[in-house]
Amino acid sequence: MENINIVRRWTRREFLRAGSLAALAAAVGPGLAACAKNPVTGESQFMLVSEKEEISLDKQASPRQLSTDYGPIRDMEVNDYVSGVGTSLSGVSHRPDMPYNFHVVNANYVNAYAFPGGTIACTRGILLELDSEAELAGLLGHEIGHVNARHTAARMSSQLLISGLVGVGGAVVGAKYGNTWAALAGGLGGFGASMLLASYSRDDERQADSLGMEYMTKAGYNPDGMVELMDMLNDQHDSEPSALEVMFATHPMSSERLATARKSILNKYAGTGEFPLYRERFMDNTASLRKIAPAVEDLQKAEKLMGEKKYGQAETLVGSALKKAPGDYAGLLIMSKCYVAQEKYDEALPYAEKARAVYPGEPQAMQLGGLLQIKSGKYEAAYEDFKEYDKALPGDPYAAFYKGYSQEGMGHVDQAAREYVKFLKQVNQGEQAKHAYYRLVEWGYIQGEAGHAADPLFPEA
Ligand SMILES: [Zn+2]
Repeated sequence: MENINIVRRWTRREFLRAGSLAALAAAVGPGLAACAKNPVTGESQFMLVSEKEEISLDKQASPRQLSTDYGPIRDMEVNDYVSGVGTSLSGVSHRPDMPYNFHVVNANYVNAYAFPGGTIACTRGILLELDSEAELAGLLGHEIGHVNARHTAARMSSQLLISGLVGVGGAVVGAKYGNTWAALAGGLGGFGASMLLASYSRDDERQADSLGMEYMTKAGYNPDGMVELMDMLNDQHDSEPSALEVMFATHPMSSERLATARKSILNKYAGTGEFPLYRERFMDNTASLRKIAPAVEDLQKAEKLMGEKKYGQAETLVGSALKKAPGDYAGLLIMSKCYVAQEKYDEALPYAEKARAVYPGEPQAMQLGGLLQIKSGKYEAAYEDFKEYDKALPGDPYAAFYKGYSQEGMGHVDQAAREYVKFLKQVNQGEQAKHAYYRLVEWGYIQGEAGHAADPLFPEA
């Protein structure tokens, strides 16, 4: 057990609650190993999350994150190209058999991330900042490194332990690993993307860098690509810190990481000087995306302005982006959100509907469209939207709330109550939960205090 020192970080109460590590190991039922051999180091490490769980957690959480980032780009050639580079790297990694899948998502901010089962995404915003395939290989290699060293699973294991979910006698863990799983998934509130993508430690980052360089050179890329990538990120961060806020929050960057990468090129990878960077190949394969780069830049600026609540200026920039790239899914949705933020719901709806038309099946437009249908009193259409949304992105408890809200609008009290109960079983805070609760009281389904919730549709607007 390598990470036994984790116990020292516990409070006395937590320690008593979880019992000794030995009791814990005994409590952990079949299917859940308390220790596992790390695929990269070969060393035994404390591990409560199995590979099966990593994959299942990924499947549960990654679709929501991809949709939050406006889904994979519809330019299949660029997507396939990036996926091909990723596959060449994962194939030479320590866990070549994980179900890797690579995506370029429509989000404009600069970021890349990995889910524990091998779902890896980079935004079109970061792709537009890269100059060579070797830089892309460095970026994806780093993410593949996180998956291979099981960084998310290891962090979750210690969180599970510390949070006391793994109790004395295995009350939670039980005989089936699925029980911890349920507790874990429940704790994620259904959508643990943020928890899954929470910050890696500096050690994790160092290891992911080192693995990224290992995989990229094994796949034949010049490791200079990694240095150039880090150089670019550091420069950008110095000149425009906000643009890289998310990226640097999840992957802490430092000049030390850059220095380490430079050093290993001189030592460990001294023989790779002739390895190609594939600049031209990268430029050729991303040319179609580059054509809409000015629109992406407008959208980056617009999103920043929206963050500062300067909606009028943002609206102008999104308009300019949509002139350069008409029918851009992210642009259309951002315009719709910009109107929502100004409470101009009638103007917002057509943009959400157009977004839906240009990217059929992408859940975010269904959700926003549904909310705007409710706002305009079209409850039946809204109900259909949320039914479809629930199918496209299963597991969002709010789908039940909005289905209930639409039913309520149609005057179907029984159906509405049923959806509200379903929702309240999963969520018990926020304006939506208040609204559902007060209605159930009002309608006599439960006893309690009457009251009124604030706008449950756009609580932040
Ligand atoms: Zn990282």
